[in-house]
Amino acid sequence: MDDVHVDPRTRTTRVGPGARWQQVDHETQAFGLATTGGVHSRTGVGGLTLGGGIGYLARSCGLAVDNLRAAEVVLADGRVVSASQEEHPDLLWALRGGGGNLGVVTSLELQLYEVGPEVMTAQVFLPIEQAADGLAFYRELMADAADVFACYALFVNVPPVDPFPVERHGQTCLALVACHAGELEAGAADLAPLKAVGRPLSATVASMPYAKLQQSFDAGAPDGARYYTRSGYLDELSDDLIAALVEGAGELPFPLSNVFLEPMGGAVARVEPTATAFPHRAARFNLGIQAGWLEASQDAAASAWTRSLYATLEPHTTGAVYVNYLDHDEKSRVHRAFGPNLERLRSVKAAYDPDDLFDVHGLGAGAEALRG
Ligand SMILES: Cc1cc2nc3c(=O)[nH]c(=O)nc-3n(C[C@H](O)[C@H](O)[C@H](O)COP(=O)(O)OP(=O)(O)OC[C@H]3O[C@@H](n4cnc5c(N)ncnc54)[C@H](O)[C@@H]3O)c2cc1C
Repeated sequence: MDDVHVDPRTRTTRVGPGARWQQVDHETQAFGLATTGGVHSRTGVGGLTLGGGIGYLARSCGLAVDNLRAAEVVLADGRVVSASQEEHPDLLWALRGGGGNLGVVTSLELQLYEVGPEVMTAQVFLPIEQAADGLAFYRELMADAADVFACYALFVNVPPVDPFPVERHGQTCLALVACHAGELEAGAADLAPLKAVGRPLSATVASMPYAKLQQSFDAGAPDGARYYTRSGYLDELSDDLIAALVEGAGELPFPLSNVFLEPMGGAVARVEPTATAFPHRAARFNLGIQAGWLEASQDAAASAWTRSLYATLEPHTTGAVYVNYLDHDEKSRVHRAFGPNLERLRSVKAAYDPDDLFDVHGLGAGAEALRG
């Protein structure tokens, strides 16, 4: 169930749903190919793809759902069907963003692109007192960025390792992490401004293997970590939002927490909102608050902190949310994850899962009516 087969001739890969992105990157990069996955290499291909799939390559290659060409699905009645543009196209439409609500996906066929193996990258860590200026710089950097260029901005706690100054270990900082998936020379030019931003705690602008970049956040998400999330899309990065972010995220209370801005746009925005079940095509950024911690005794405090910070930031969002960042207690926001596609998604679900066997988001006919 976690096999990854690459066909370099058709530039596609057939992936078992139990595979993680590191396996996909490993197999596809052997041919100098890649497709959009998440920015942690140990997240699973199944759930991440079916909900949307945002990563460094999304602006150039589209979301993971945009690259989902076909899937094999075990339906609620036990039938095994292929969903593609030719067979069950309505099911393929729904799988592209509808999450696990339709059936059990046993194989995914994804489109591949020429990427790397070396790509230009930047990892710049600014002390918290420079975070507001850093975010203003980030706003300019992404304003007219090339599609092959993606930069994340994250509030994270400084890891207790070299080259970070000891007195900063454990303090919150602003990290700008960028990938340029095009020609190395063009990448070096596009990333050059990151060499000159502020007075960083650490700054690296260099080429590295794409597969290695994909693993660079892994240490911040160890096995057994506990998470609680709130998120919302942004149309813009206003001065007020920047101030609220610095105020609210400037001192992250749980060791593995982060508050991130994920760039959208480019190829993501060139797909019609109703072309796949994933509707969020116009947003410029996705804002996420992810509390991360290790001890169950901190569950209540971490979730309360996340909800409280999100309450202060929510007025700056569009109100829409990415289904893969919805937490277990956010049933009331499900309609905001599917937006204009909700009713079509429910009708496809009614055709393939009439008894609501796969009740993930309460989309079934008998499920409690969705608010909206
Ligand atoms: C540390 C961390 C980093 C993340 N980074 C990113 C990121 O960069 N980009 C991004 O877009 N998202 C990211 N996410 C969110 C991620 O997309 C979701 O958590 C997603 O659900 C992970 O899928 P999974 O297969 O690993 O998890 P699972 O827990 O295995 O699956 C989650 C759900 O997906 C559905 N599902 C999974 N596999 C199948 C299948 N084969 N058939 C049918 N339904 C299935 C089911 O409903 C299941 O309950 C991140 C999450 C974490 C915790």
